[in-house]
Amino acid sequence: MSAKPITGQCHCGNVRVTVARTPDYVNECNCSLCRSLGGLWAYYASHEVKISGETTGYVRADLSPASLATHHCPTCGTTTHWVPLEDDPHPRMGVNSRLFAEDFLDGVETRYPDGKSW
Ligand SMILES: [Zn+2]
Repeated sequence: MSAKPITGQCHCGNVRVTVARTPDYVNECNCSLCRSLGGLWAYYASHEVKISGETTGYVRADLSPASLATHHCPTCGTTTHWVPLEDDPHPRMGVNSRLFAEDFLDGVETRYPDGKSW
């Protein structure tokens, strides 16, 4: 596991996300939201994540109450992260591991939660 900060970015480079370390694991969830967004989620406390550049939030309207807002780059549309709808700091937020170089996930377990059944 890497303990040095790692930076990834959206496709156009306007949004940069720096995380404190390699994730413990990532989730490839099968729910409609995660599948639509292409998220491969790595989890961090909010103090471990730094995001620069403008993002646009999305809160799903088909679940009430929704618990989180997903964010994407308004220019290229890349899904960047999600945050709980409660105020900062967050003990757990999600970062799209697809923002990072391919070797970011070397040795990291991919889990396949059955989110569509939740
Ligand atoms: Zn972009």
